Amino acid sequence: MEIAAPDLSPLVSHLNPAQREAVTAPPEHRLVLAGAGSGKTRVLTHRVAWLIAAEGISPMSILAVTFTNKAAAEMRGRIEQLVDVPIRAMWVGTFHGIAHRMLRMHWKEAGLPQNFQILDADDQLRLVKRVLKSLDLPDDQWPPRTVAGWINAQKEEARRPQDFRDEGDFTQRQFVRIYTAYEQTCERQGVVDFAELLLRAYELTRDDAEIQAHYRRRFRHILVDEFQDTNTLQYKWLRVLAGNTGILFAVGDDDQSVYSWRGARVENMMNLSRDFPGCEIVRLEQNYRSTSTILNAANGLISRNSARLGKELWTDVGEGEPIQLYAAYNEYDEAEFVVNRIQEHLQGRCAPSDIAILYRMGAQSRVLEETLIRARIPYRIYGGLRFFERQEVKDALAYLRLLHNRDDDVSFERAVNTPARGIGATTVDKLREYARANGLSLWAAARHGAATLGRSGAKVQEFLGMIESMAVETKDFVLSKTTERVIERSGLREHYRKEKGEQAESRLENLDELISAARSFETLPDEPPLEGQPQLDPLTNFLTHAALEAGEGQAKPGEDCVQLMTLHAAKGLEFPIVFMVGLENGLFPHVRATDEGNLEEERRLCYVGITRARKRLYMSYAELRRLHGVEQISAPSQFLREIPPECIVETRPRAQVVRPAYAASGGRPTSGSSHDANAARTARTRLPDAMRETSGPGGLRLGQQVRHERFGEGTILQFDGDGDRARVEVRFRNAGTKWLMLSVANLLPV
Ligand code: ATP
Ligand code: MG
Repeated sequence: MEIAAPDLSPLVSHLNPAQREAVTAPPEHRLVLAGAGSGKTRVLTHRVAWLIAAEGISPMSILAVTFTNKAAAEMRGRIEQLVDVPIRAMWVGTFHGIAHRMLRMHWKEAGLPQNFQILDADDQLRLVKRVLKSLDLPDDQWPPRTVAGWINAQKEEARRPQDFRDEGDFTQRQFVRIYTAYEQTCERQGVVDFAELLLRAYELTRDDAEIQAHYRRRFRHILVDEFQDTNTLQYKWLRVLAGNTGILFAVGDDDQSVYSWRGARVENMMNLSRDFPGCEIVRLEQNYRSTSTILNAANGLISRNSARLGKELWTDVGEGEPIQLYAAYNEYDEAEFVVNRIQEHLQGRCAPSDIAILYRMGAQSRVLEETLIRARIPYRIYGGLRFFERQEVKDALAYLRLLHNRDDDVSFERAVNTPARGIGATTVDKLREYARANGLSLWAAARHGAATLGRSGAKVQEFLGMIESMAVETKDFVLSKTTERVIERSGLREHYRKEKGEQAESRLENLDELISAARSFETLPDEPPLEGQPQLDPLTNFLTHAALEAGEGQAKPGEDCVQLMTLHAAKGLEFPIVFMVGLENGLFPHVRATDEGNLEEERRLCYVGITRARKRLYMSYAELRRLHGVEQISAPSQFLREIPPECIVETRPRAQVVRPAYAASGGRPTSGSSHDANAARTARTRLPDAMRETSGPGGLRLGQQVRHERFGEGTILQFDGDGDRARVEVRFRNAGTKWLMLSVANLLPV
């Protein structure tokens, strides 16, 4: 009997010819190189479905890498709709998620303890601080953030301390010394940081012949989205996983490479044809997302970059509305403009979730949030401070982690005096000293070396006793009950209850939320584990989730909110209505983007922002902004000048030119200057007018070159305060960045 061939038309009917060609290509390496909104992610998803439905490939043989956990979940859902075979056995996830999964399965071969814990960025920083202290290296000369960044960068290049041998200058040798000590500490405590997850997984696949053979046999097809942002280590790992048999299908856009500061290497795209023989490049040129106005703006802007592979994009969606540009007096005025426009859209047929507000720096969200709250517009921050990173949540997790692994020093340090139990910094220092001298964890040091602690010894013993008795008491508890008991017995709930105010209330709510979150980890998945995959105990599962969950803040079902996020977090997403705020020189492009390479990356970030919009795009800048506690006057972003002027219309209240008496009104514009949305007139104005250079106190301008008698030549970065108290920040070529009193600095224009 002949079996009817499956109907494959749903897999290809919603694709254009170029997309279809990519989806149905024979099993060979492919790179889909195409601009924003051209359907790369759609092609990748359909390709997986095609492999399963048309080529008869088992879902087990497929590894798909996405940029976020949310994208992974969406991709899985989409594929399930397209094929009617169970796809549970398929590995879909972020590089970190996949590396973690592999290490949990092969912990022994990877040289890790079975219950290894993951350090998030904040934990890592604490550990680095400790290591510096143990090596007697002062924080001010060896800033922990810089050190952690250096270590991560080495790991991202797959370099271990021993790879350096005795090379390099004094500084490098010290860095390597710190890296060595840091590694030993992590090893002793059974913890791994984010970069280590990837590095271990890579080394495991590279060095363990059996594991290598297993995964090469298994993953016949490897598919990667957002390929332009893979780093050296991820690329090496892909190569090892693929060997000579795995087939790579990568999609990406060099114009959207925005993570070089985190080690991403866009060159990986260029290297594909060398490292994956026969790799053909497929180009997609039709954009399905945006109006032609939005697309022209994006194309015009990105054409200023020189390092490009070059792509064309067109759309037949229609011209749409022009981009509206608003020149705000300050950040409050800007937020008001955004919220007014949102309200107008909400009164139309638009849902809150159709709207996104994008900004360069996380700190910009505060004023926007305040204004949204006042207007009672529901919002959600995507990728903001993660729930699991909040102070009170981390406090409670520290106790849970200690219950799990007493040698987890980071958690010990956090829990031992939170809430305060009279165990001061000196006592902890002594413990560290004892631990170091005897090669012990802090827990073990506290047990054995209590005698050296004098009067505090008893308090430390009490703490140990409390943890031990908590462990006994909660032994048979379900996870949520354990969490609840830990929050009570540790005194954390009481501690936060005594704190007054709204923040304390939300801290208590978060602790309750943590208990609910734990509840969802109590029942293990009904389905049996996949081949050889260990069943993790609920606590390990929960702690892993807490460390790896990237705060992608999926809206809860039924929750319809405006989305706020950084431009970086917006990659890959799309919204009918987009607001890009804070388009000011110094903020965007960021002041640190000093060389051409960095500036091009900032421009790509702007390209990413513009191309998130489907129908309407608003842009705004503030002449005066207080950010990180410093007020500064800025000129409009140079990117605004680089967008073809016919794409933009400027909106601003006509009468308003001078900035308001800002300080006297507590940061809010005073009367006469406050923006009245109805009074705002929309007119096509000549952009150069609005882009005039903004001058600061003393007739100096931002970005101006000046000379100081002692420090030499430099560039003005920002101003603060006025009158006699006006200060200026200058980055000197040879003397670093300094704040100076303007009245005495005697700066001369160069
Ligand atoms: P980015 O570079 O931003 O990641 P992308 O290239 O991955 O974008 P997609 O997100 O896959 O683009 O697609 C953009 C939008 O266009 C989506 O809404 C998608 O559903 C739609 N789209 C893609 N291809 C087609 C098509 N052939 N017909 C109709 N809509 C399409
Ligand atoms: Mg995409």
